Amino acid sequence: MRIIVLLFLLLPFISNSQVNTAVAQQYKDLSYLREYIYTHAPTYAKSKKYDRLTYKFSDIAANRIVYEFNSGDIIKWDALENYLNKILKQVIPSELANDTLIHIYIKHDGNFDAEMQPSGQLFLNVGVLAEITDEATLAGLILHELAHYYKHHTLHKFLHNEVVGTDWGVFGSVKKPRDYFSQQQELEADSLASVWMEQTPYFHSGLLNYYRILQRLEQRKLLTLEDYWELKNSHIPPSKTRIAKYEANSNKIKQNDANLFVVSKTDFMGLKKQAKPLILDALLTNINKTNYDDCIERAFVFHIVEPENPLFTYYIMEAIRRKAYLDDIYWQQDFITYRYFDTLRVDNVRRKRPMGRHLLEFFDVNLLALNPTEGKDIKAHFYWNDAPRFTTYDEAYAYFFRLSQTQNCTECILSYALSYTTDIEKRDGYLNEYLLSPEAKYTLFAETLLAGNFSKNLLNKKLTLVTDFNAVIKEGNDFIRLDNAAADNLRNINYVLDSVRMNYPYRTIRMFSDIQAMYYLDFKKFTQLKKLFLLPHYVGNKNFSPHLLDPSFAELFLKYNVKEIEFIGINFLEYRKAEKTKEAYKYALKTSFYELANTTNTSQTLDFYLISINENILKTPKFIYSNRDISLNFKRNGFTQLAPRIKLEIDRKDGMMYQQTN
Ligand SMILES: [Zn+2]
Repeated sequence: MRIIVLLFLLLPFISNSQVNTAVAQQYKDLSYLREYIYTHAPTYAKSKKYDRLTYKFSDIAANRIVYEFNSGDIIKWDALENYLNKILKQVIPSELANDTLIHIYIKHDGNFDAEMQPSGQLFLNVGVLAEITDEATLAGLILHELAHYYKHHTLHKFLHNEVVGTDWGVFGSVKKPRDYFSQQQELEADSLASVWMEQTPYFHSGLLNYYRILQRLEQRKLLTLEDYWELKNSHIPPSKTRIAKYEANSNKIKQNDANLFVVSKTDFMGLKKQAKPLILDALLTNINKTNYDDCIERAFVFHIVEPENPLFTYYIMEAIRRKAYLDDIYWQQDFITYRYFDTLRVDNVRRKRPMGRHLLEFFDVNLLALNPTEGKDIKAHFYWNDAPRFTTYDEAYAYFFRLSQTQNCTECILSYALSYTTDIEKRDGYLNEYLLSPEAKYTLFAETLLAGNFSKNLLNKKLTLVTDFNAVIKEGNDFIRLDNAAADNLRNINYVLDSVRMNYPYRTIRMFSDIQAMYYLDFKKFTQLKKLFLLPHYVGNKNFSPHLLDPSFAELFLKYNVKEIEFIGINFLEYRKAEKTKEAYKYALKTSFYELANTTNTSQTLDFYLISINENILKTPKFIYSNRDISLNFKRNGFTQLAPRIKLEIDRKDGMMYQQTN
């Protein structure tokens, strides 16, 4: 139970924005999506045994889709979106021809991945374009995802987990049944995609190319893992299994037409090129657990293909700087190769040891984040032909800064200035140089730094963003979340917050969805800020300041003129006995927030969390406060208890933080 509550907290549902021109309204309408998913579920899933579970699945899935569309991660880039959907049109099988919601959306994520939703939205990471070299391969990926959709795989997996549970032991405790189940589904999707691929105008081996990309990514990942020879506990079968299956069947493939491109090779090449800065931006701003490595490696490969492009020089520099700012140990590590291992045999036993050579010692395509078929595009062979220009990150950073100045890269000067964290005189020299350029993006930030202590110039105030305010009915084990986008629910939430607001003159409390509606770019930066600080990174420099990590964070603190930014999540829960029918679930969904809260003699609790990101108030920039399962007094009306309880939690957080500063 605790785990599911946590899931609610970690996946903030921000569904109450009215303005998002990016996506047609119906895709954002929770109840529309929920009914759509349920209606399209297969008949067996609506039998007495599964009916309520299938409805629950539809509800959870619809919430996720709305969450994605409101996350700021779905990007509107018409040219690319139209192009991708033209490929989709070329490959869509007749079985799915009348399915109106099937559409590809682009996600601001630099990694190679795509995710099909159970109502037909395919979220395709922009990072896919970094690896894909032709339309046929893209067609293979799309068909694989469509096959998951057609086979209702996510619903199956959900029902399987709910009914069978996720106990170990069914398969001799070697594999989690859930993983085994998922692996079966992957192979099933592969084989259906193969049948469908025959009916398209594309080279059938586009599918094989897709698996080869996955295999290469797996192998590069393995090179970074000291103790593993294959990726363990993966819910996806190893690509070599998928490739072997493909090759075993390859003599049976009937192919009518065999094109690498059908829609347009010119468009493909142009869009792939234009996507590069976006991919690097996604890798730099949404860092995952690899702490900027993916950004550095990708930017370096884009650079050796287009050495004259200053943007790639900038991303290499800035990703190195941020990585080393979080932990300065990296300055002395070998550029890129520091995290890779070599395999050797000692007495016939395989061992791995840290790679003793640096990247420019000799050309090894396995170490580059590059599809080998694009090896011919590399222009900067001089890195390997001449004496190595750099070995460590420190040397690479200095080298790329010198290069950037021959390329007139203004932002590279800011990056270089910020790399001086102790020698302030040097830093200020470069800041002054930066400000001389009419193209400088972060002038206010640079001026503030030059004027002295950044945080001293900020007002001693807080900006408090309410990212989640959910009302949830817990019926047995089912968490049924009321739609907080419904107008009357939002009104009541605001009523509670108004009452909280009055107590805090130094705190501006706002619904996050209002920021999203009014200041979309700020909303995206706030989201990145929150995401970054939620990740359990290993950070050597625990005293780092957000404004020095990312200048766009500095702009948030400056624009709102606060020393502290807080993100608050609130879940209001009412516990009820388990119900068995879909109708009961639907009935619960119809409850309004006010109706739910305005009762006595029911079992109600509150979950509260607050993430504070501060500029030099505490030694560490992050402070997390949470209090879960706070019981409300069942003799009193729940609604009147909300505001006082939220105030109490905020006061407690302020008190604990105050103690840490003294
Ligand atoms: Zn799959």
